[in-house]
Amino acid sequence: MSYLALYRKYRPTNFNEVIGQKHIVTSLKNQILNDQISHAYLFTGTRGTGKTSIAKIFARAINCEHPIDASPCGECSTCKAMLNPNNLDIIEIDAASNNRVDEIRDLREKVKYPPVNGRYKVYIVDEVHMLTDSAFNALLKTLEEPPKHAVFILATTEVQKLPATILSRCLRFDFKLLENDEIEGLLKRIFDDSIIKYDNESVALIARLGEGSVRDALSVAEMCVAYTNKNVTYSSVIEAVGAIDKKVLSNLAKYILKGEVNAILNTINSILEKGKVVSQLAKDLANYFRDLAVVKTCENANEILKYPTDILSDMEGLAKENSITKILNAFKCLSSLDNEFRYSTNPRSLFELNVLNLTLDNSLSLEERVKTLEDKINSVLP
Ligand SMILES: [Zn+2]
Repeated sequence: MSYLALYRKYRPTNFNEVIGQKHIVTSLKNQILNDQISHAYLFTGTRGTGKTSIAKIFARAINCEHPIDASPCGECSTCKAMLNPNNLDIIEIDAASNNRVDEIRDLREKVKYPPVNGRYKVYIVDEVHMLTDSAFNALLKTLEEPPKHAVFILATTEVQKLPATILSRCLRFDFKLLENDEIEGLLKRIFDDSIIKYDNESVALIARLGEGSVRDALSVAEMCVAYTNKNVTYSSVIEAVGAIDKKVLSNLAKYILKGEVNAILNTINSILEKGKVVSQLAKDLANYFRDLAVVKTCENANEILKYPTDILSDMEGLAKENSITKILNAFKCLSSLDNEFRYSTNPRSLFELNVLNLTLDNSLSLEERVKTLEDKINSVLP
């Protein structure tokens, strides 16, 4: 089972099946119900947030003979014709590979011909920011005087790369990252559908790993299903994606908060020896401290975090023993490293230095802290 299979299989076919993006779905449905279709739309947002899926539903809906609640009926002859990928009325263009002016000129020639089956000829231009300057100019001419039957849906992950002249011609919709809850709901539906066993913690973890993108979450889900033979558990997800075990992270965090330099360096060493990348370790550790801050400050922390109980009780212990200032300090320091790694020739040393720095008492002067650090390192070195 390839990851595309799952993503394609569960692609929504009408507006009711779309997860999240309520603000966009409502506006588009209203346009259809009131028959106020614009000539150019701009869909912007991170990958996997539903831009292309919604563009396709919209393209079919405005052509459908009997739309149901503004969604394509899927039954009429136009709907059926549109579902054929070779139909001539909904044209998908990947601007990443068709970015030259000739291709846009070709589009300008063909857009003049009326649609074959429906009322509108819809062009969905994906990754539109990849067009060359001259291609943008050619596209702009079409957007300035579009034929009555033409609708353009421009989709992009990098809206800042679009010329202002194009932006001003489009009705813009900003796609949000999806909430974990929304992704969890979809994952559960898919797992139930495919008779795959799972628990709430593993589904929450997969959703978190998707970081707001349905596509990424489904790709992780497929990896896990393949790895676990249809029984997805929290620890199997960790193993399948090669994430760092929360137990190990929890220990490392504990050593940092207690200032046990020897244990810190040994733990980092054993994590990196297993092939983990130092930037990922820093990111995971930063997230751990962030979650620890949530445990420290929120009464219903696990409604947000959804950790298995053994991991949560470790965190509750750590949160109790340490001040919020100390926890937030660690979070701040580790999350700022992400940028610095890019310019560092030795990310591991940079990471270790910062982590060791966290073990020092901030009330001391810089000189005293460096001295303490030196002593600590010397006591560890053979
Ligand atoms: Zn229809």
